[in-house]
Amino acid sequence: MDTFTVVNPATEQPVADVPLATVEQADAAIASAHEAFHAWRAVSPGDRAALLRRFAAVVDAHVDELAELEVRNAGHTWGNARWEAGNVRDCLNYYAGAPERLFGRQIPVAGGTDVTFHEPLGVVGVIVPWNFPMPIAGWGFAPALAAGNTVVLKPAELTPLTAVRLGELALEAGLPEHVLTVLPGKGSVVGERFVTHPLVRKVCFTGSTDVGKRIMAGCADQVKRVTLELGGKSANIVFADSDLAAAAASAPYAVFDNAGQDCCARSRILVERSAYDEFLTHLAPAVEALRVLDPSDEASEMGPLISSGQRDRVRGYLDEVEVAIAGQAPDGAGWWVPPSVVAVDDPAARIWREEVFGPVVAVMPFDDEAHAVELANDTEYGLSGSIYTSDLGRGLRVARAVEAGNLSVNSHSSVRYWTPFGGYKQSGLGRELGPDAPMAFTEEKNVFLAH
Ligand code: NAP
Ligand code: MG
Repeated sequence: MDTFTVVNPATEQPVADVPLATVEQADAAIASAHEAFHAWRAVSPGDRAALLRRFAAVVDAHVDELAELEVRNAGHTWGNARWEAGNVRDCLNYYAGAPERLFGRQIPVAGGTDVTFHEPLGVVGVIVPWNFPMPIAGWGFAPALAAGNTVVLKPAELTPLTAVRLGELALEAGLPEHVLTVLPGKGSVVGERFVTHPLVRKVCFTGSTDVGKRIMAGCADQVKRVTLELGGKSANIVFADSDLAAAAASAPYAVFDNAGQDCCARSRILVERSAYDEFLTHLAPAVEALRVLDPSDEASEMGPLISSGQRDRVRGYLDEVEVAIAGQAPDGAGWWVPPSVVAVDDPAARIWREEVFGPVVAVMPFDDEAHAVELANDTEYGLSGSIYTSDLGRGLRVARAVEAGNLSVNSHSSVRYWTPFGGYKQSGLGRELGPDAPMAFTEEKNVFLAH
């Protein structure tokens, strides 16, 4: 059997060997999940809710253990890793409120009664990337299970450890076997099988835009339901009337968090021309002060990149440009890139257009509000963005004008489990999280009863 050696990206030391599922094993797991579906959908709403709450409680009791796994497997900081494990618990608790609330409508009609139902789909395949292994898994499985589906989940090859543990914790919490099955394996094997297997009724994919397009094309063959959360090149728009010191102090965290390996990273900073020099004066010390350390150190604010390949990819972008501001990074073992700020004047530059997925931010001045919106929207992506201004009218106006799914004014927040999350344009299709997420894992059925 093929195995994958998980490596600590901060030390390059092996952490664990994980067996990779074959197509035959994926088929067997999908068949078992399909069988389990009939019993799972029949569990009464209150009992399904109670099981999900129990799962949340068991995750809560293992937050530190899960966080420790993510620190070693993915190079996440302790603070992030604890938040991520807590996010799985919170998502489960939130969607545990859904089973009793999945009500349909009664619609007035002549000659009878018309009612609608939200029926579960069946087996849902969740494909997870390596950048946020725990939250992205939970955003898929929690609402899918709540709506009465069974789930097969493929973690990224590089980061399977927390997903495998969550699968064990689900059983410990009393979820029936085969309701949530974690299948470590290759995208080209297990991931592709989710797309082609007729008993997988929906694919929920997070990852690169290129693979997302292939998955959407593959799903078309069976008109399979699909949700896509893809890349981003989000803009942080800073107006001259904002608190420039505060905007500059927060900007590094909006892009260098998780070493920039974040689909919501504000990797383009647009600064009103009259404030451009002053903003950079504030930005430099904030970038230089970032504590880039082995994340096993609680003081670390930024860890390494996930792999040598990702490190080389990011370095390739930096080799083409002049770095205006560079932060620190450790020497020696580990896949490190220092946080880097690049001043750009040509919107055609590769570093301005492409998702780097590393600790690199490009900065450009703009002339006025219309110009800022034009630059922000001059991209195929549309996931998130920020607006810094003291004029709330302008904040709202620009938030409405930017073609992206998640905007924040005078803040960089984008993800809360109880608000919707997803992308415009090539950043994705559909929404996750928020009150409507379970609906994305159901079919709406209409029933007419003749009087
Ligand atoms: P990726 O190839 O899209 O991988 C994401 C997930 O899809 C992984 O579980 C992967 O499995 C799986 N996969 C790969 N090929 C597949 C296929 N043909 N069919 C079904 N599943 C498949 O992303 P990546 O290579 O890890 O990262 C490349 C770039 O994608 C990054 O540099 C970044 O720009 C972007 N990215 C975006 C996000 C996001 O949150 N939006 C997350 C990660 C990456 P394996 O692990 O086996 O490859
Ligand atoms: Mg890939």
